[in-house]
Amino acid sequence: MGMAMRVAGTRARSAVPSATDPLNPIWHPSPNFGERRDGLTPSLIVIHYTAMDSAQAALDRLCDPKAEVSAHYLVGNDGTLWQMVREEDRAWHAGAGEWHGQTDINSRSIGIELDNAGKHPFPEPQMHRLEQLLRQIMYRWAILPNGVIGHSDMAPGRKFDPGPRFDWLRLERNLLATPRGYAAGPQTASKGQFRNLAQAAGFSADVDDDTLLHAVRLRYRPWGRGPLQQADLAPLIPHS
Ligand SMILES: [Zn+2]
Repeated sequence: MGMAMRVAGTRARSAVPSATDPLNPIWHPSPNFGERRDGLTPSLIVIHYTAMDSAQAALDRLCDPKAEVSAHYLVGNDGTLWQMVREEDRAWHAGAGEWHGQTDINSRSIGIELDNAGKHPFPEPQMHRLEQLLRQIMYRWAILPNGVIGHSDMAPGRKFDPGPRFDWLRLERNLLATPRGYAAGPQTASKGQFRNLAQAAGFSADVDDDTLLHAVRLRYRPWGRGPLQQADLAPLIPHS
């Protein structure tokens, strides 16, 4: 998009980000995709980090037929955007797992990889591009904020991305993910209550208590440690 010139007598362009302006991603096709099964269309967006040292290394792997993995998009740490699979098609990014009791997440989702080895924060240009991309995908497929999840949300214990340094709160404030609950919640935190709340929030995979707690903490309080606390339940209690 070119610079918007302010000319006397004309209106300035709106500062509100558009959901429809094309982002013109760099098309870098991957052979690793298929048809979405059972006529499914995207209702989820799964966010990943690449766990690789560079965007180029990630692109190579995501487009290598021997690797049998892919994603729809890769966002570089400088905000460069690549597209590897058409949104209509089924990319191979999610693998085994479930969310809200639904499996075959690949058939139900768009996968976005963020160039990050997992050990450092996500730079502003990358987060900005991700937010633009999320708005557009959500608009195109009528996906609500509760459809934006992390890989670790749907594959607890098996996957840990986008990791403890991903700024979920930022997405929540911009209504690009479900805002967490802030209610005080119950006085005591029981494992049963926690599991029920986590399941209702979407964490339905059949995993043990510690694995579930770790997955929920990765999303809401990644530096939380030790036994279950009331603060682990509060984010899962929906706004009334
Ligand atoms: Zn992942």
